[in-house]
Amino acid sequence: MEYSKHNIFSKVKDSDEYFLLNPLSMQADILNSVEAQRYKDKRIENQQEYFKKGYLVDPKAEEKLFKSKYLDFIDERDSDEIQLFFTPWYTCNFDCSYCFQDEYTNPDEKVSDAVMDAFFAYIDTQFADRKKYITIFGGEPFLNTPDRRASIQKIIDGANQRNLDIAAVTNGYQLEEFIDILKGARVREIQVTLDGTHEVHDKRRMLKGGKGSFDKITKGIDLLLKEKIPVNLRMVVDKDNIDNLLNLARFAIEKGWTKSPFFKTALGRNYELHHCQTNNKRLFSRIEMYQEIYDLVKTNPEILEFHKPAFSISKFIFENGELPSPLFDSCSGTKTEWAFDYTGKIYSCTATVGNVGDELGTFYPKVDLKQDLIEEWEERDVLSIPECASCNVKLACGGGCAAVAKSRTGKIQSADCRPIKELLELGIGLYSKHEI
Ligand code: SF4
Ligand code: SF4
Repeated sequence: MEYSKHNIFSKVKDSDEYFLLNPLSMQADILNSVEAQRYKDKRIENQQEYFKKGYLVDPKAEEKLFKSKYLDFIDERDSDEIQLFFTPWYTCNFDCSYCFQDEYTNPDEKVSDAVMDAFFAYIDTQFADRKKYITIFGGEPFLNTPDRRASIQKIIDGANQRNLDIAAVTNGYQLEEFIDILKGARVREIQVTLDGTHEVHDKRRMLKGGKGSFDKITKGIDLLLKEKIPVNLRMVVDKDNIDNLLNLARFAIEKGWTKSPFFKTALGRNYELHHCQTNNKRLFSRIEMYQEIYDLVKTNPEILEFHKPAFSISKFIFENGELPSPLFDSCSGTKTEWAFDYTGKIYSCTATVGNVGDELGTFYPKVDLKQDLIEEWEERDVLSIPECASCNVKLACGGGCAAVAKSRTGKIQSADCRPIKELLELGIGLYSKHEI
């Protein structure tokens, strides 16, 4: 018998305790300092219990378990719902200080009826037997001109005819103008970005020409919630606005948003994907961002009312009282996510859509798929990425994001490492002290 190669062991942040966690056997324990020392010295007393929990294993039996859980993972994923992003244009009415799409040429073009028909014909055949929903993406999808409204209406009509839900990713500026159209759709969620309270948000997310957008966006969110249309409020966080997280949380609490069952939040990290940010110094690494949030929540737990960060699988464990199933792949691109744009091109996901060189084929004017490339995407998981082979946190990490990995190394089959152990140290530290 030996220690499982999937054990993750470390000290809980700001505590004398340690954690031992195994994502394959789906077990986790808190150890006191004496037990932890015994674990480190390989002198554990209750060997039977450690064996039962999969911390101590017969390597051959563990390999068998690994393979069987992998097959379960693939089976489950094959029946998972797919998210189909549709970009009717890359045009946008905002001039955000950090926009990653600003280096695309963003010509003032728009989708034709023929392309929308081809999109629906493509998803009807390619994903005939799959559960699916459509997310309208951009640029900015909600631009209030007659022809653009007609295009959004046509996408919603197409979704309604097929009993498909829709979602949208919007800057939120013209929600009020689109509420009537949205009321006629089966809306899964509207993702709206708000980067802070009035002054902070308006410095980062302004209209072309510089006018602020905060007041109109918050009015739009109020309207959506009043109509029971689900809102996912996303705050894009970097070093310039992280200090405003508490004030935004307070604002949302005072507005009554956090009490609504139709309201949820996400914190997005601004990151280096396609090109250098105007001011690269303001970007957080993943662990820096979580460390900052940890420090902020420690002194201001009310932030948790607004947003509960995942800290890898920590939040899941505390919310569900158990571990999630092993994560053999954390990238949904070409598996449960695809992206399509108004030019008729097909991409893996929102991280690659519109990016020259990342096309995986076309659905218009004819269906033409780059099968070799698609297979490379489809095959990517912790078994195919060479760096992941000997990694003990792989079943909590899943290999990260293929687009980030590719932009760093030029290869899809390469790692985008997540600081899993460090995230767990913070997350277990936080959620063991604050009820969630
Ligand atoms: S490539 Fe990255 S952004 Fe795209 S689906 Fe994979 S993880 Fe998500
Ligand atoms: S991407 Fe890095 S951290 Fe994640 S499983 Fe692979 S080697 Fe481990």
